[in-house]
Amino acid sequence: MAVAQQTQTGNAWGVELPKQAFIGGRYVDARDGKQLPCVFPGTGKTIGQVAACDSADVDVAVRSARKSFDSGAWSRMAPQDRRKVLIKLSELILSHRDELATLETLNVGKPFLNAKNGDIPSAASCIGWFGEAIDKIYGEVGPTPADLTAVITREPLGVVAAIVPWNYPLSMAAWKLGPALAAGNSVVLKPAEQSPYTALRIAALAMEAGLPEGVLNVVSGYGETAGQALGRHMDVDCVTFTGSTEVGKLFMRYAGESNAKRVSLELGGKSPQVVLADSDIDAAAQGVAAGIFANAGQVCNAGSRLIVDRAVKDELLDRIVKYAKGLRIGDPFHADTKLGPLVSQEQHARVLSYIEHGKQHGAKVVTGGGRVAALGEGFFVEPTVFDGVTNDMKIAQEEIFGPVLSTITFKDFDEALAIANDTIYGLAAGVWTNDIRKAQRAAKAIRAGVVWVNCFDRGNMSVPFGGFKQSGHGRDKSLHAIDKYTDWKAVWYAS
Ligand code: NAD
Repeated sequence: MAVAQQTQTGNAWGVELPKQAFIGGRYVDARDGKQLPCVFPGTGKTIGQVAACDSADVDVAVRSARKSFDSGAWSRMAPQDRRKVLIKLSELILSHRDELATLETLNVGKPFLNAKNGDIPSAASCIGWFGEAIDKIYGEVGPTPADLTAVITREPLGVVAAIVPWNYPLSMAAWKLGPALAAGNSVVLKPAEQSPYTALRIAALAMEAGLPEGVLNVVSGYGETAGQALGRHMDVDCVTFTGSTEVGKLFMRYAGESNAKRVSLELGGKSPQVVLADSDIDAAAQGVAAGIFANAGQVCNAGSRLIVDRAVKDELLDRIVKYAKGLRIGDPFHADTKLGPLVSQEQHARVLSYIEHGKQHGAKVVTGGGRVAALGEGFFVEPTVFDGVTNDMKIAQEEIFGPVLSTITFKDFDEALAIANDTIYGLAAGVWTNDIRKAQRAAKAIRAGVVWVNCFDRGNMSVPFGGFKQSGHGRDKSLHAIDKYTDWKAVWYAS
């Protein structure tokens, strides 16, 4: 079913820019008519407006999700049939790849080719993967006495509120939508205020794929209004959140002060990259550099702390600096651009203030260290490497979320592991060594949800992703993600 929407056309990019929220199967304005601006980070200019939903709109969206859930049109649809719809949606995302990649780049400034070849196909594959999986998941029969039979089934939770960040807007949404929808839930999705376009667009694609009305609602809006309203809503059964640790904690509070809804959190990180002297330095340099400069460092698992044996530090930094200098920074729509702008004026100022703080507190800038003045009003920051950092410095402890690497040296292996774990976060880590025993010791000792050995940021849909400590709880991706969106029901039959 095709859904009509008001959009802004006649722009320079040849795509229609969404303007309205998506509630109850149709595009609608916010009830009070409020809008929020969409800014293209490449120029710093406002390119459009979308509905700024508040608690009244959220309430309508939750009611619509509840109505669709209770109707059984999706929640009681045979898994084989839900599978077909999700696979169709995955195909539609792929066939709208250029359009969706353009929308993503306009919202967040990431290089268009990265969006086209990375984010969009990865979102499509996630939706398709969970579609494929859902008719292959079984319940259980309990080992009961002969006069009884206990059938244990997975039940969808009901209304799931998915609140996502701006760094990988469609992929992060897909990590929630894939398992939540596959399991039979209805969803209210709130994209970040910086990046509503792709979420709004795929709502119509989902209807076209055959998702019944009201099963997917998208409320564009600010965190403090639309996000908080979802977190506190008495008829939301589950919040699945990806974003900062600070806001993640708020969602736990909202749940505690409302209906004790289930909350799962994918939060921030300050991931260590531990490089031992016996490692392949070329491979380590490549992995460390890519691990901090990809997506302009706006990655939850970015390897932002380089913890390196002082014997190989200079050699490693030389290569990382060479990599950084080779990155073409600029217009994200240019085919050669490798590093786009940061997402917003606010994020730009925040990252630059961390860089200034590092300089003032004794860290040494090896490369970068400022904004890219030649690129006008866009939110560009040079890829920056600090040397001489100690792990107690702010630039070693706080999530900068920009292309900034802090280098810390160590003398022995145990010290390296202690530094790696000396953080409130536990999302991910990299270990570079050719000594299998040290690799194994490090992988076991580092408290993180993901440890990469002699590689970084690898993954696919069949392996779970998520954090320890203040990086959150619950897992996205893989069959483990289904746990977040289902509950077990035990039914006893007496003979
Ligand atoms: P954020 O926490 O500021 O915002 C995330 C979402 O929460 C947005 O939709 C926002 O509108 C909403 N929000 C903000 N304030 C709110 C409030 N007071 N009440 C309710 N909702 C609110 O995060 P961000 O700046 O969009 O994204 C960057 C953060 O996301 C980083 O910390 C990054 O590490 C994290 N992240 C984590 C993962 C992961 O898988 N662990 C993945 C991507 C990003």
